[in-house]
Amino acid sequence: MKHPLLPDYDFDTYKEITPEFLKSIEKTCVLCDIDNTLVPYDEPNPTDDVCAWVKSITDAGIKLILVSNNEKDRVEKFNEKLNLPYLYKSGKPSRRTVKNALKILGEEKKNAVMVGDQLLTDVITARVSGITSVWVPTIKKVETPFFRCKSAIEKPFIKYYYNKKAKKNI
Ligand SMILES: [Mg+2]
Repeated sequence: MKHPLLPDYDFDTYKEITPEFLKSIEKTCVLCDIDNTLVPYDEPNPTDDVCAWVKSITDAGIKLILVSNNEKDRVEKFNEKLNLPYLYKSGKPSRRTVKNALKILGEEKKNAVMVGDQLLTDVITARVSGITSVWVPTIKKVETPFFRCKSAIEKPFIKYYYNKKAKKNI
């Protein structure tokens, strides 16, 4: 069994997670983190690139739900333009998060991927829930003691993942 902190796939940015890729791995829905996955923490609105990516995914008939541990106001403001289903204070890394998101979408685990930048939040949520995990690097590091600590824990796993990938073991 794979380590719970190692993703199934990684991309340099969410923009590389295309409908073609999702269809190639037979996925029909995406559970997507917001902060530092789509935009930095301090960016309240989706960029034009985020809007274009969301449109490309949903136009392809793939369902997308925002799954954030951030506050209601942040998530609702970010979603004003996008108008997607969403979960705020979603409870990641609990299994309940995935269960709730799939219930809203009317989807099954086998069709879902979770996209996010945090191994200790997004990747582990996907892995303990039995759904596919897609990891993207953090857009802008958050310099608080909590995030510095998280980042220090994640670092060796990211290194290990890249090393394994380089040897084509992943
Ligand atoms: Mg994040």
